[in-house]
Amino acid sequence: MEQLLRLFRHSDSGLLVCRRDGRLLLGSPVAARMFGVEALALRHTQVTRWLEPLNGAGDAAPTLPAGQWETTARRDDGSAFPAEVTVTETRLDGHDQRILIVRDITDRRLTQERLQHLANFDSLTGLPNRTLFRDRLAKAMARARRSRMPMVLMFLDLDNFKVINDSLGHEVGDQLLCHVARTLEGCLRDVDSVALRNPGDDVITVSRLGGDEFTVIAEQVATAEDAALLARRILDALATPLQLMEHELHVSASIGISMFPNDDTDLDGLVRHTDMAMYRSKAMGRGIYSFYSHELSAEVAARLTLESNLRHALERGEFELYYQPKFHLGTGQVSGVEALIRWHSPGHGMVPPDRFIGALEDSGLILPVGAWALRTAIAELSSWDAAGAPRLTLAVNLSARQFRQPFLARSVADALHEAGIAPHRLELELTESLLLEDSESNRNVLATLAEMGVRVAIDDFGTGHSSLSYLKRFDIDTLKIDRSFVSALPTDTEDAAIATAIVAMGHSLHMKVVAEGVETIEQAEFLYGLGCDEIQGYLISRPLPGTQLLAWLQERLGRAPPAPPGNTTPTPADQLPSSLVLDVPDTLYCTETLGVTR
Ligand code: C2E
Ligand code: MG
Ligand code: MG
Repeated sequence: MEQLLRLFRHSDSGLLVCRRDGRLLLGSPVAARMFGVEALALRHTQVTRWLEPLNGAGDAAPTLPAGQWETTARRDDGSAFPAEVTVTETRLDGHDQRILIVRDITDRRLTQERLQHLANFDSLTGLPNRTLFRDRLAKAMARARRSRMPMVLMFLDLDNFKVINDSLGHEVGDQLLCHVARTLEGCLRDVDSVALRNPGDDVITVSRLGGDEFTVIAEQVATAEDAALLARRILDALATPLQLMEHELHVSASIGISMFPNDDTDLDGLVRHTDMAMYRSKAMGRGIYSFYSHELSAEVAARLTLESNLRHALERGEFELYYQPKFHLGTGQVSGVEALIRWHSPGHGMVPPDRFIGALEDSGLILPVGAWALRTAIAELSSWDAAGAPRLTLAVNLSARQFRQPFLARSVADALHEAGIAPHRLELELTESLLLEDSESNRNVLATLAEMGVRVAIDDFGTGHSSLSYLKRFDIDTLKIDRSFVSALPTDTEDAAIATAIVAMGHSLHMKVVAEGVETIEQAEFLYGLGCDEIQGYLISRPLPGTQLLAWLQERLGRAPPAPPGNTTPTPADQLPSSLVLDVPDTLYCTETLGVTR
């Protein structure tokens, strides 16, 4: 008893002593405070007035089994709080009695709930996260199975989110993601016109899987048309421009759609198919939705076969480099070549790069293949030097993955050093989108290349994003006007205006301007008139295998004398042997405007 009294005074839990039938004999001051009464007021009351039956038993006779229980406690004013109750059976004064230690576990519950929330919801947007998404999807699939009402799964990926994030900052990126979350919830709130058959049911779940990837689970969507309407509604809602800080943003998204149970009956399969459909939307031009289809899975299978064939292509020596000459309009001479990869696929003959570069990039194979291309092209350049060809420059295409790999500059330097080629004869062609990312690593790589003396060109200029500020920020040497602006020259006035603007802008930023895809003499003349520095295209030559290139050059050189052995010093373009005059259609030379003499 002594002990009990001490406990009564000092414990920070509430203590109750009651009889087996639940009548309270004693309550500690802490217990009284918990229940919001005076300690004396507890006496002779029934324990069930304060604590809901333990052990989930009915509320008739209070069963007070020994052990630890969680239950709901009730204050005198009727309010409730969660409690943990430890019941000990004891014998006091010759009677069977119970001692109850009562703890208010409100804080513990809150922490548990917070943890639960953290584990299931995305902290930025408050939407369900990947874990909860999968849980909800499994439940929705089970309901759809029972009700025999199809269910729709959509994957939504923002277009160019990375560009926005990198160029406008993460704060804008975060706000944009929240905006998208609210827009999705908003435009799907009253979908009963489309899909909802039992208003009030929670039939739509919007989740964020991470990054800029959102999902929509829509239950009870009867047909594919209904699903398409839903997707349209989302795209329309997102299309409204929005003002974030001082930026006006135009957002679009690509959506992939699959239907359960038609497209797959298994959760992972359904997710995979929806993802594929989303990628198809991306590939087909973004801002659209696509359904998963069986043809799509055939496409993916073909892609996988392509990848597995490519995996062995390098070791089997199936790649070859072709070289396309570049012609300097001012000097009328071949100034350099661009290396273009070709794949001799055993099954398909010669495959052009547009058909396999994407697969190389996706599979990561672009790194070894790109490294091979760089080394091979540089080695070949040095072999042409040795064979007495004029000092040409060499352009090599780099994909974004290659550009981002660590030690890129190092491996370029090694390849140049091994072959004894001066760095300024090498030009690396990058795409615009890569440079939109104003990341520190981009700046560092470009600065290192510039320090080494390696030149950098922007390929397909004008087709990427329209932010031009990167031209000023980065050390760029050359702009290559994309073929699409050249093909309709000189008649298309818009293309003519674009070409004129690119040449003027390039020159004012001290860059060289090269036009790609020049096929006609009229195009060449027009570009010459603009002051464009170099042209490249079928008019001069198609890309040629290395051996043929040498013959092509030599033919035009009229048997140029071999260079003195060991002489690797570069010849500036204006000192190139005058005999290196092109044998392009006569008209090119007869045209006065080109000022090219034979
Ligand atoms: P690109 O770098 O813009 O190369 C120019 C493309 O235009 C080449 O296509 C070339 O054959 C083609 N072309 C040149 N002149 C004309 C013309 O007068 N008319 C027409 N219609 N086309 C012309 P190709 O060789 O099929 O290469 C396509 C793209 O593949 C290249 O575009 C480049 O982005 C990429 N690529 C090629 N080789 C490599 C490589 O080694 N590494 C990487 N990462 N990409 C490469
Ligand atoms: Mg190129
Ligand atoms: Mg190009």
